[in-house]
Amino acid sequence: MKEIILLKIGEIALKGLNRKNFEDLLIKNIKRKLYKYGRFEIVSSQSTIRVMPLSDDIDLDEVCTAISKIFGIVTFSRACVADKDLDKIKQAAAEYLEDILLDAKSFKVESKRSDKKFPYGSPEISREVGGFLADKFPHLAVDVHNPEVTVTVEVRDFAAYIHGSVMEGAGGLPVSCGGKAAILISGGIDSPVAAYMMAKRGVELVAIHFASPPYTSQRAEDKVRDLLTIVSDYSGQMDMYTVPFTKIQEEIQKNCPEELFTIIMRRLMMNIAQRIAKQQGCQALITGESLGQVASQTIGAIACTDEVANMPVFRPLIGMDKKEIIEISRKINTFETSCLPYEDCCTVFTPKHPRTRPKVEFVRQAEECVEWADMIAEAVENVKITHIE
Ligand code: ATP
Ligand code: MG
Repeated sequence: MKEIILLKIGEIALKGLNRKNFEDLLIKNIKRKLYKYGRFEIVSSQSTIRVMPLSDDIDLDEVCTAISKIFGIVTFSRACVADKDLDKIKQAAAEYLEDILLDAKSFKVESKRSDKKFPYGSPEISREVGGFLADKFPHLAVDVHNPEVTVTVEVRDFAAYIHGSVMEGAGGLPVSCGGKAAILISGGIDSPVAAYMMAKRGVELVAIHFASPPYTSQRAEDKVRDLLTIVSDYSGQMDMYTVPFTKIQEEIQKNCPEELFTIIMRRLMMNIAQRIAKQQGCQALITGESLGQVASQTIGAIACTDEVANMPVFRPLIGMDKKEIIEISRKINTFETSCLPYEDCCTVFTPKHPRTRPKVEFVRQAEECVEWADMIAEAVENVKITHIE
């Protein structure tokens, strides 16, 4: 029996005149993602994308797992294909869904007729198919309110499709419809989640990581690469720019007041990050900050950091509790890797009593006791690029 996957696009369907562009981009992303599983024909019509495998040896379970990570898809289902003939639809439903119907106690049938030339209306299709299945599986009760299995029949332009369960898609918008931004990534729990959330809104990612060897190790850097590899399963491939940050941190420690170490460091991070981001065609920066989580994430500290930024800084976690962030990190599978105990440059030279309400003028003054320009240029020049896929 021929099987295909039906994908429902959500928000894209509301995009009016731009809709075709969003759909084309989504199809391009799907093709790129499914390339390694075999050959498919992928067609879009009536708010549904059909993914049709072109050979029998394709593992549709694997394909479904891959599809569940593509942004822009709200739900999807594996479905069988039947000729547009009511008897054939009934037979196909009974055969294709036999296993789940044998296991269930109750069911109902829902029908959609987008081909208005089909001689039966939706209620009639549901009644006919429902009656047939009830005869064939006499243990089943019909329950229209809370059925264990909902059998869906969709009569569309070229064929009828029958499916039993609907799987949740990744939601969001197709990656790269929302421009390009640079995620400042540490090895912690928060920043990979922030990266995922912005990719979900259609943003293409570039990653920037600050490393301070020998205070931070190669293993810490590898951990960040591993986290990005997991995120790239959703966001698509990206480049990671590792910035050598040791000299700058040592200069901060030597010359600046201890309670301002972190805030000055973060301003320099922003400064460097936006230079790299601009070179790479990014329009915004992303961080994993959440209001009040640590001293450098108070409103005052964030205002101080943002003073040096000349592009938008997205902080998708700003209003979230740690518990909520962890929930997402578990869902996207970054949590365990994030918990590996390697040091981050932010934890090197941390002040005992950081300022939680730093005054911008004060910070600026403290910062100006060092001539940073050459060190910043040197750091940008010496970034190491790692391709993540
Ligand atoms: P995370 O779990 O993401 O590490 P955190 O709660 O530990 O966050 P901080 O260490 O204060 O918070 O960092 C706040 C944000 O600054 C991070 O979410 C990340 O965006 C950025 N950041 C921190 N360390 C680095 C780093 N080494 N390289 C690049 N960005 C960093
Ligand atoms: Mg951190």
